[in-house]
Amino acid sequence: MKSHKILMIPGPIEFDPEVLAAVGRPTTSHNDPSFIEAFGASLEMMRDVFLSVDGQPFIVPGSGTLAMDAVAANLVEPGDAVLMLNTGYFSDRYTEILKRYGGQVTELVAPIGATVALEDVENALRQKSYKLLVFTHVETSTGVINDVPSLVNLAQKYQAISVVDGICSIGAEEFRMSEWKVDVALTASQKALGVPPGLALWMVSPHALEVFKRRSTPVMNYYCDWNKWLPVMQSHEARKPDYFGTPAINLVWGLYTSLQLILKEEMEQRFSRHQLLSRAFKAAVTAWELDQIPLKPEYAAHTVTAVRYPKGVEAASLLPEVAKQGIIISGGLHPKIKNEYFRVGHMGTTSFGDLMATISAVENALQVCGYAVSPGSGLAAAQAELWRTKAGSTS
Ligand SMILES: *Cc1c(COP(=O)(O)O)cnc(C)c1O
Repeated sequence: MKSHKILMIPGPIEFDPEVLAAVGRPTTSHNDPSFIEAFGASLEMMRDVFLSVDGQPFIVPGSGTLAMDAVAANLVEPGDAVLMLNTGYFSDRYTEILKRYGGQVTELVAPIGATVALEDVENALRQKSYKLLVFTHVETSTGVINDVPSLVNLAQKYQAISVVDGICSIGAEEFRMSEWKVDVALTASQKALGVPPGLALWMVSPHALEVFKRRSTPVMNYYCDWNKWLPVMQSHEARKPDYFGTPAINLVWGLYTSLQLILKEEMEQRFSRHQLLSRAFKAAVTAWELDQIPLKPEYAAHTVTAVRYPKGVEAASLLPEVAKQGIIISGGLHPKIKNEYFRVGHMGTTSFGDLMATISAVENALQVCGYAVSPGSGLAAAQAELWRTKAGSTS
């Protein structure tokens, strides 16, 4: 049996061997022309992945939380009003960050497994003027997806800057930065972009960059200050050396490789592959007669599935049983229901075969844990979904 277990968690994900080989190559100087080319081309490719025509990309060493921190530090001045749509664990984190920089945060809290109703968002925006509207595209803790275009429309209508935490979505979920007029989108390397943890990435619209430039107070975070990083990004796109902090050189080599692989697949194909993987996994869950955390199918993300345990089954018994078959899945994360569900990530390099191996492992583990499932029921449901999709796409 292979010693390597397949990571089917919502980040970090399985990485392509080509990406890992790129990360493992001898470290170049950050001033080496080949590295400047890789960095510059990665910035350009980021636009193609975010589907942004005129955004300003940033690639900075750090985890996703650093991207969240950087956006808050640069766009929030003390006293600025922020409307936060709270869908769970990562929204709680973002609220904490926004407050740290003096943001006056109003939170609209969604019921667990749902999103905040658009009417409620519009009512709030009508009552008060907000500088920022902040929300998560995919709330990784519950597998809930927000309707980005509708929310951004509202932000536009009431002249708020839209900030989308796309850490568990960009590179997998349908996301069209320019067409949807998103102001700021952020992500991290280890999720759908398929690069080991350590890169924070974000894209800023010309409008949001203007707003940043009109700040009247200094940025209260030295490392994250866009005044420090912006010239470095611009120089690299112009293929010139420039330095603020040492780039995560090997990870940028990995990113350079991964973005090429992503664009080779093509974004539209990537969106539909993730939709298929999601439908197939969710069909298996339904066949096992298990509930999901998202309360309605339209609230459910395509990058992660959150499944309620049946009576008598818990993380301590199920997860190790799944791991015995070479598959790693996650437990719950939302603080209020942490012990009630498990999560499976299916993004990035995940193939239909990986998904079937995962379904087989979970199905078997459920049986071992005392929950009766009929053998192959999840696999058959997923297979049927694949065949339905194939039939649909050829007709
Ligand atoms: C993973 C994740 C984060 C945190 O990213 P780190 O890289 O762990 O700092 C924030 N928001 C969302 C939606 C995520 O999925």
